[in-house]
Amino acid sequence: MSKKIYMICLIIIVVGISASCKSSEEEAKKYGEEFKVMVDDFGKGEISYKQCDKYYEEIDKNKVTDLISDLSTKMNNINDSKNNYSLGEEKYKDQQWSESIKYFSNVIRDDEENFSDAIEKRNEIIDTYIKETDRLELGYFYDEAIAKLEEISSYVTDSSVVSDKIQEYKNRKNDIVLYEGDIKNIFFHSLIAFPELAFDGDFMEEGYNMWMTTVDEYKKMLEQMYERDYVLIDVNMLYETKEVDGKQVVERKDLYLPKGKKPVILSLDDQNYYEYMEKDGFADRLVLDKEGNVATFTKLPDGGNLVARDNDCIPITDVFVEKHPDFSYRGAKGIVGLTGYEGIMGYRTDLFDSPTFEEDVKTTKAIANRLKETGWLFASHSYGHIRFPEKGMPRVKKDTKQWDDEVPPIIGETNLYIYPFGASVGKDDEKFKLLQEYGFQVFFGVGVHTNLRFTDDAVLMDRCNLDGFRMHYGKNQLEDLFDVDYVYDKSRPKFKDN
Ligand SMILES: [Zn+2]
Repeated sequence: MSKKIYMICLIIIVVGISASCKSSEEEAKKYGEEFKVMVDDFGKGEISYKQCDKYYEEIDKNKVTDLISDLSTKMNNINDSKNNYSLGEEKYKDQQWSESIKYFSNVIRDDEENFSDAIEKRNEIIDTYIKETDRLELGYFYDEAIAKLEEISSYVTDSSVVSDKIQEYKNRKNDIVLYEGDIKNIFFHSLIAFPELAFDGDFMEEGYNMWMTTVDEYKKMLEQMYERDYVLIDVNMLYETKEVDGKQVVERKDLYLPKGKKPVILSLDDQNYYEYMEKDGFADRLVLDKEGNVATFTKLPDGGNLVARDNDCIPITDVFVEKHPDFSYRGAKGIVGLTGYEGIMGYRTDLFDSPTFEEDVKTTKAIANRLKETGWLFASHSYGHIRFPEKGMPRVKKDTKQWDDEVPPIIGETNLYIYPFGASVGKDDEKFKLLQEYGFQVFFGVGVHTNLRFTDDAVLMDRCNLDGFRMHYGKNQLEDLFDVDYVYDKSRPKFKDN
């Protein structure tokens, strides 16, 4: 071959090679551009992962450039993001907020289809949390509020929103101080819902006027006690039980409350809805309403049926605390005192052969459970509403056993005892020892002042009746709690001495 021909061949080969190089580079570039459009479209949700991935799989692997492999990583990240979004949505629908926000926080900006929606829902969840924790904080559940916010704090974009709140709750918690003032202890009977029926001039009128409170009065009392910084507390905050040398010992416990708050223990006697009260303007029994809340059932004079949450102490207190969570320290409501001789809560759970016995037990159990869930405690008020100091030991034994047989199987065990008529017996009395044998540790009498006393193994305290009698004869004793002139129901008949 001549030199000339050789050179020509060489040129042709070099040009050929460089041309083919150039065309393969262009091809890779073209793939890259096309793939980028596809990945963007996938991000926007316009094509599926499958379509996008198929394109990538079909690219000759020799032609995969850095750009193409970066795009493939991006595609997979977007795919992960979309899966996280759907899981977040699922949990969101089930209102599993902390799970939901966790998934939503894995949604990335390249996942254009879902990114802004995920942010929006995250913010919505944070708002829900803050509302919920504000409510917890208002009810003095500081640790619970903090723990709840900590659940989501790492998923929040602007973490100061949550950390500021946590700090606020911690500050509030630090405001809890030792309380050394007066502990108020108040009690009521069933409320008069229809004064015109209670005060109708019959032989019961005087008793109702003395020992009962009207719905209107009760609502005004709560309102004024709340305004004056009183807060309902659980009686169990006042003592602790310890075992010393194998013996149960009851000791005073320091009471800590948010600065400025004053404690009130509330109890309700005879929540039995006795027969004698029928048609006299009281509710007839407790029920659970459609929402599962404790309500009252009342047969109205015109024959109608009324299920309401505004005509006796329990539901009125519940509704009040729903509106003002800061009126209840950590969810405390009050103590429901029950006898047993006419059943409980308006149901004849004492009549074993009643055709509705099984159903009545079931119903009262459900109501009792709901009451316990919503901050109420139970107390024995004896079985037959007996006057302890006057009864002999055999009668007290029978009474206590009967209450124990019939009532705790429905309401659960309790260590609280409310003496009927406030008539208590001394700590060395064998009747008292009998009550202790049945597990009672906290005993309530009646008196203006709480007068908290401790024996080795029991707590004794008095409660003040906030009824017509006290408002009429002891107006000055109540001035810390409320203004009697404002509260007093004008529909009450006159007392004999005025
Ligand atoms: Zn009673």
